[in-house]
Amino acid sequence: MVLFQRPSPEFFFYKNMKHPIHIQSGFLAMMPAFMIACSPQPKEPEYPNVIYIFPDQMRNHAMGFWNESGFQDAINFTADPVHTPNLNRFAKESAVLTSAMSNFPVSSPHRGMLLTGMFSENSGVPLNCNSNRPISNLREDATCISDVFSQAGYNCAYLGKLHVDYPTPNDPANPGQYVENQTPVWDAYTPPTRRHGFDYWYSYGTFDVHKNPHYWDTQGIRHDIHEWSPNHEADKAISYLRNEGNVRDPKKPFFMMISFNPPHSPYRSTDDCMEEDYNLYKDIPIDQLLIRPNADKTMEKAESTPYYFASVTGVDRAFGRIMEELKRLNLDKNTLVVFTSDHGETMCSQGVQDPKNSPYAESMNVPFLIRYPEKITPKIDKELILSTPDIMPTILGLCGLENNIPTSVEGRNYAGRFMDKDYSTPLREGALYIRNVDGTKDENGKVQSYFPVARGIKTHQYTLAITIDKKNKQIKNVLLFDDLNDPYQLNNLPWEEHKELVQSLCKKMVPLLKEADDPWYKERILSELIPY
Ligand code: CA
Repeated sequence: MVLFQRPSPEFFFYKNMKHPIHIQSGFLAMMPAFMIACSPQPKEPEYPNVIYIFPDQMRNHAMGFWNESGFQDAINFTADPVHTPNLNRFAKESAVLTSAMSNFPVSSPHRGMLLTGMFSENSGVPLNCNSNRPISNLREDATCISDVFSQAGYNCAYLGKLHVDYPTPNDPANPGQYVENQTPVWDAYTPPTRRHGFDYWYSYGTFDVHKNPHYWDTQGIRHDIHEWSPNHEADKAISYLRNEGNVRDPKKPFFMMISFNPPHSPYRSTDDCMEEDYNLYKDIPIDQLLIRPNADKTMEKAESTPYYFASVTGVDRAFGRIMEELKRLNLDKNTLVVFTSDHGETMCSQGVQDPKNSPYAESMNVPFLIRYPEKITPKIDKELILSTPDIMPTILGLCGLENNIPTSVEGRNYAGRFMDKDYSTPLREGALYIRNVDGTKDENGKVQSYFPVARGIKTHQYTLAITIDKKNKQIKNVLLFDDLNDPYQLNNLPWEEHKELVQSLCKKMVPLLKEADDPWYKERILSELIPY
């Protein structure tokens, strides 16, 4: 007989005598277990805990389980030769997507969409955030996923990289100063007024010295750490799970977001990753590491490959430690855990330097795994092409908070699909691809507007991305790939020779542009080609 859906302090008392860390009430602690179990409990909604873990540049291809039986048949690529034992185990316990897409595969825009459930036009974050771009700043008036959880009675914790704030001179230790000395400023301190319901804070804006990270805590105190950041953040997450220091109310469910920066450039030396992980890859020739046939092994960046994979393995271990603690505390049954990434990493594929911000598979296709033993049966879903704004409503739906999804949300709630209960939420024909660049600037060089330089669509079969000229908004270049028959996107089909195909993909893109309230839709950009 299951009397407690959600682990309560009392439940831990008799279920887990060795670790009675949640006991708060002496009276309850003295009661025999059967009396506790039979006591009438107030009827409260029983919400699950949620842990959302997202490293920064972890492409879907860098997940070792894709090369294992049971997974291999679901994809048409060979996974990178990476060691991810914890994620491999987790995948077998999860719903796993083949086609989760980072619509705007760059940090701040992705995070803005993730937190608000809105596309980049309305999230407030149409560009990567730095002090030259005042127009890119998470909307203070937006109802974020954490606002909803907080209002529903959750404790909410944010750990790691945030990167959705316009940096301002608000260093808590040096009022009137930025938190770093460089132009433009990238890193930022997030004051309590901008934390959107997160009551536990251990975060920073963006900073890439992986073994000397820093964080501002709930009180705004800065902590400089001399440790690889995922290891430190896993320790903090474990401490939060154990409720060391009474940082949360153990009677409430919690929502914890953990944003590991690695894998993230630079990947130059063991200053950027753990030596034990680097040792797994250091003696393997580059051509056996860079196995994707679209990778240019002559690029200087190729030397980064063992460090990239070492970062992936280190993140896998940090993730595994958090999962292990969740199980040890007996919290794992009623905790929904998501593992995904900001966006991917090209790592010499297509010969591009930029690790992200492109429509290539290595950049857009991210891992997406949800484990929730009480509601989700492990499976692989090849049909759902998940867009970033769908994540917020889907998680809220899985928690039974579908009625709390704000009307501002533009994404779709696929919770029923994950739970095999309701497949009625329509699937999109594909995922919208978005790329913006700086528009006009004022006399101080501050960006006043942005320009929607490229849009596209990723369907099950094709990738189309159209870049326009900033001056006349006419076509500058087009990428068109048949991903089904050319999974490594080696052959850019000449679009003028495939006009019918381009037209049909443009037709499918129209509802996506409309749903995203996109400037291409509002301005009818390329209306001779796109049938608005
Ligand atoms: Ca990023």
